[in-house]
Amino acid sequence: MRALGTFRAALIGCFLLLTAVVVTVTWLFVSNAGKHMGADYTAFASNLVRGQYETALLRRSTEAFLHHPNAFHQERILRTLDTIRSREGTTRGNLERRELDQERYEDILAEFDHVHELLPELRQLTEEALEDPARREELELVAMEVEDTLAFIYSQLHALNHDASGQHLQLTRWLSAAVIALAALVLSMIAGLLWTMDKVVRQRAALTRLTVTDTLTDLPNRRALLQRVDEALAHAQRAREPVSLALIDIDYFKAVNDAHGHPAGDAVLRQFAGQLRNLVRRSDVVARLGGEEFGLLMPDTDDRGARELCERIRRRIEETPLPLPGTSQSLTVSIGLATAGPGEATNFNTLYVLADQALYEGKHGGRNQVVTRG
Ligand code: GH3
Ligand code: MG
Ligand code: MG
Repeated sequence: MRALGTFRAALIGCFLLLTAVVVTVTWLFVSNAGKHMGADYTAFASNLVRGQYETALLRRSTEAFLHHPNAFHQERILRTLDTIRSREGTTRGNLERRELDQERYEDILAEFDHVHELLPELRQLTEEALEDPARREELELVAMEVEDTLAFIYSQLHALNHDASGQHLQLTRWLSAAVIALAALVLSMIAGLLWTMDKVVRQRAALTRLTVTDTLTDLPNRRALLQRVDEALAHAQRAREPVSLALIDIDYFKAVNDAHGHPAGDAVLRQFAGQLRNLVRRSDVVARLGGEEFGLLMPDTDDRGARELCERIRRRIEETPLPLPGTSQSLTVSIGLATAGPGEATNFNTLYVLADQALYEGKHGGRNQVVTRG
């Protein structure tokens, strides 16, 4: 029974541990999947915002140069052109890495190619426009074209990024829901499996118990007593301790059945078994050998001690009224007792035969008595 409890505790422990691991892994997956995706889209969006800012910077520095053509404003335009060029490279790289709708961003790449062609021209116009006022009008036109194209590119990319982020978010939600459902399914399957295992083990334990238990009295049966006597004798021999075995037979039990019926006889046997169980020590083994005959194994008990216990049992039974309404009658028992002395080599059969002979003597000597042999 204790082993069964330990097995059950181990099963529950393993299951709880497994549940904790699955829940943690699922939670880590769900929270990190969302975070990674979010971080990716935010990085791309901030790149686009910088691109838009640089486009506005080109407009402002061009206007400033056209109003006050000097080397300072010229230098600002040139620096902005460098930044625009490097931003173009970063954005193209981002687009290639990301799984955006290719058809939609092919147009944007064509627009980038156009800006790419215009940038050297704009650079040259900027360099010449400081000395040559005739170039400034052209500079303004080309700068406007670059600005318009970049504004178009970045607004398109914002829309694309927004759509893709929405789609990915949806996908992540579905994926997370699927992972959670899968984890719950796996856990419930494992729980079902463990529950079945626990049931099988409990059924086997109950079956094993049935093979060594008497169903009427719930006492150990003959088979259980045989096992216990063998164990007790082996131990007694090693430890040089005495062992006693008593056979207890109810006197004239047939008369009880005849007078009150078999069911009443069964109730008497159950009460009798309960009394025996209460009278013996924890280390003693009381078993029902069959019918109205019981065996009592008393490890580490010499013939004197065993006789005292058997006398006590005999007296108590004699004093106890039958559990039957309308009768003050009680039972008596005859007890045959055999003892193996310390270190004495013996076996169950030898002890059993001696105890049986003693019981036979008791029956013939008038019943309601304890007779010792051995
Ligand atoms: P003795 O003093 O010589 O032992 O007489 P007895 O009547 O006790 O012995 P006998 O062997 O003649 O009869 C035993 C009776 O026990 C017969 C049977 O009906 C009864 N008995 C055996 N097993 C059960 C049982 O499980 N339930 C009931 N109610 N009676 C049982
Ligand atoms: Mg009898
Ligand atoms: Mg009998």
